Amino acid sequence: MTSNVGQSYPYTSEPEAQRAETITSLLAARADLAATLAADTTPLDAQDRWWVYKCPTKGCAGLLHAAGYAAEKHAVYVVCDGTCAKTFLR
Ligand SMILES: [Zn+2]
Repeated sequence: MTSNVGQSYPYTSEPEAQRAETITSLLAARADLAATLAADTTPLDAQDRWWVYKCPTKGCAGLLHAAGYAAEKHAVYVVCDGTCAKTFLR
C-alpha cells in the first residue's frame, strides 16, 4: 500500500449510500484494508455526496472512493476499486 498526494479533478460524484457500499465491499475483498484505514484515517463526516476520482495508476481503470480523512494531512483518503488496489490522498 502506498499513499501519495496527487492533483486531479473529480471524475464524478456518488451518494453516501453508494460510497459506503463500495467501501464495504472493498473491505471484504482486501484483508489488510481495514487495518490500513484504522491506522491512517479518521472517519468521514456526514455528507450527502462524495467526489470520485479516476485512478492515476497506469493501466488501472479503477475509480477512487473516499474511505476516510487522512490522519496527518488535511486530505481525503481514497481507495482504488480497480486492479492496482492502491490508496491515495485527495
Ligand atoms: Zn487503481
